[in-house]
Amino acid sequence: MIGTAPIRSRAAWRRPRGRPAAVFLLACVLGLAAWLRLGPIPPELLDSGQSTSTIVLDRHDVPLYEALSADGTRSTRLSAAELPPALVAATVAAEDRRFWWHPGVDPIAITRAAVNNLLAGGTVEGGSTITQQVAKMLLDRRQRSPAEPASPRRRKVAAKVQEAVLALRLEHRFTKREILAHYVNLAAYGNQLVGAAHASRAYFGRDVQLLTPAQAAFLAGLPQRPSIFNPYRRPEAALARQRVVLRRMEAAGALTAEEASLAAGERLTFTRAPAPFLAPHFVEMVLASLEGPRPSRLRTTVDAGLQADIAGIIRSHRATLDRHGAANVAVVVLDNARGEWLAWEGSGNYFDDVHGGAINGPRTARQPGSALKPFTYALAFEEGLTPASVLPDIPSHFPTAEAGVLYSPRNYDGRYRGPLLARQALAGSENVPAVALTSQMGTPRLLRFLTRAGLSTLQQTAAYYGLGITLGSAEVRLDELVAAYAAFARGGRWVAPVWTRSADTGAAGGPREERRLMAPRTAYWVTDILADARAREYIFGRGGSLEFPFPVAVKTGTSQAYHDNWTIGYTRDVTVGVWVGNFDRRPLRDSTGVTGAGPVFHGVMLAAVRRVRAAIPLSDADPIVARPDGLHERHVCALSGMPAGRWCRSRQREWLAGGEESPCTWHQPAADGVAVAWPAEYRQWARQAGLLDEREAPPRALATAGTPRQTARLGSQAPARRRIEITNPPDGATYLIDPTLRREFQTLALRAVTPVPVRIEWRVDGKAVGAASSDAAVSWPLTPGTHRIVARDPRGRTAEATIAVR
Ligand SMILES: [Zn+2]
Repeated sequence: MIGTAPIRSRAAWRRPRGRPAAVFLLACVLGLAAWLRLGPIPPELLDSGQSTSTIVLDRHDVPLYEALSADGTRSTRLSAAELPPALVAATVAAEDRRFWWHPGVDPIAITRAAVNNLLAGGTVEGGSTITQQVAKMLLDRRQRSPAEPASPRRRKVAAKVQEAVLALRLEHRFTKREILAHYVNLAAYGNQLVGAAHASRAYFGRDVQLLTPAQAAFLAGLPQRPSIFNPYRRPEAALARQRVVLRRMEAAGALTAEEASLAAGERLTFTRAPAPFLAPHFVEMVLASLEGPRPSRLRTTVDAGLQADIAGIIRSHRATLDRHGAANVAVVVLDNARGEWLAWEGSGNYFDDVHGGAINGPRTARQPGSALKPFTYALAFEEGLTPASVLPDIPSHFPTAEAGVLYSPRNYDGRYRGPLLARQALAGSENVPAVALTSQMGTPRLLRFLTRAGLSTLQQTAAYYGLGITLGSAEVRLDELVAAYAAFARGGRWVAPVWTRSADTGAAGGPREERRLMAPRTAYWVTDILADARAREYIFGRGGSLEFPFPVAVKTGTSQAYHDNWTIGYTRDVTVGVWVGNFDRRPLRDSTGVTGAGPVFHGVMLAAVRRVRAAIPLSDADPIVARPDGLHERHVCALSGMPAGRWCRSRQREWLAGGEESPCTWHQPAADGVAVAWPAEYRQWARQAGLLDEREAPPRALATAGTPRQTARLGSQAPARRRIEITNPPDGATYLIDPTLRREFQTLALRAVTPVPVRIEWRVDGKAVGAASSDAAVSWPLTPGTHRIVARDPRGRTAEATIAVR
């Protein structure tokens, strides 16, 4: 057989090539044409077209988003026979003038579009026929799952070809009128209205069959650019578009000149904005997540009543928010026990095009500021610390990933409070102790913990984020942050939230993700601290937005330069998260965690608890998280955190594990009462705060105060017994501008010691920056660059330090 092949082939070559080749070519063309036109249409494409109106329901079957048919029974889908002639003429005039003649694709339109695109050097025209648009809408419906990773341009071309092939096949299966019916049922007419029948009801309050030519022309003009031609926002643009459609209808002979001018003169009145469309961002998100054909009814987890409450709360705070320069508000409420979303507000006003109202705020990553701190403390509690552990709130310099560069965090008010118990440090949201903890545990561990808590946006390396991660320099999503907080409320168990009520399945339909994030004891401690209004009093005061007539654990956050403002909190039943800011990242004005998002949070928390409990639980004093066994009530010294002894001046109660330890060693009897034996690392702070009894502190202890790491890294200070010595900043230090703080708080305290208090003048780069007694400090705003700092006493003696600021 092998031997015969070349002979046959040679014979083929010898034959005259004319006719059979042409026949073959023709067969190919016909075959291709037949395949193009007669080939299969995936059946699910057309099935999904049958149920265009999915009614999205809340948890009590109240419609959130519904086909707006007046009587609630009649189908809003139009069949080919029901198509109103005016709408048919208007749609063809608006979208595809040669609709009745072309085979699905329009070679004239494609050529014209290609020429225009070439001239414009980009895509300005599509040249799509109505049939192609139907094909595109059907394919879009099917391809809601994540797109395959191809280049956008190639995907675009491939999609165009696919649409064209499907268009040719649709033309074979359906009559022109049937295709047109598909189009008017699938097209988007703006304001979330799909289908001409819905749009007719919503905009004109009448049945689509009763549309005047003017109204039909108006409606037919919308699908081209539904957001530009929005009748509620830009009626003039929509009306200009209507005039174009009317002129084309006249040119096509669908209207006489007289009818056309009558129609152009008709005054259109619109009914009010389309009625009940609650939780639009939520509805959109849920619909987009569906795979396969859409159900006709979809029961979700949100509570329509609570959703309406929240809309009202945001409305009532609108003026205040405007005053703070905040255009956008995102709010979510999670049911703790079931892990179900009870409310979801995306932007504060979906229809506010100017401020990106359609953006789904809870899923947009932003800087959380202090709202991440509870997780730093949770991890520390997991690793052995307790609410009574003492943490340093003193000027500190932490090593960073870059050799020789130190990170010097500041507190929001620029003050340091010396030794702080973990309870007060977390409740008061002090930055320095949180960074100290993170430095001890390591950023990689905190990063892993946050990722386990469901924060999916932390994709960079630990070195990239650095210690600032605990101060919220990495961006997170409100919905994920709220889900992570709910783990505290659940005693440490993290559960992936859901938005549909199909029992125990995750968003993707698989088994629901769930894991233990921390020990019940850790969750109890963090919750107890966040619910302790007295512990945060020294920073936040009492009363106001963060206090309720029932237990609420709450944390606020403010990002760098006041772009983002957060309040997250929970009860046993619900977790509420509020973000206030601007999607375009304009900064807020005079807005902290307590004044910006706080009041909205207060209203939402009250409304949510009222909905869940049917009343405000006024006499509920049970802890949010049940106290685990093995903890005992102890009195600890409020300064040292050790078991309180007889000399301790102030004490607090903590629930701790373990047996009795020896009492506080800081407070000791002295000749004239009680003295504090400050541990070395707090002496310098205590001295600046006027708390150090000089008789007890050996003079040289001052020079070695501060963290040992710092001294080792930077080398010793001026060794000679100079009469004046700069204690802060250390010579040779590098400071990083802290991105989480407002610039006015980024100051460096200039301090020097002298044998006896004298007045010291400070100069930075030769410029006087202030003077103060040597037991006080002068604050100087950090400015990038290298700076020479000089302290001078009244007798002209000086000390110098050189620092770098980045
Ligand atoms: Zn004590």
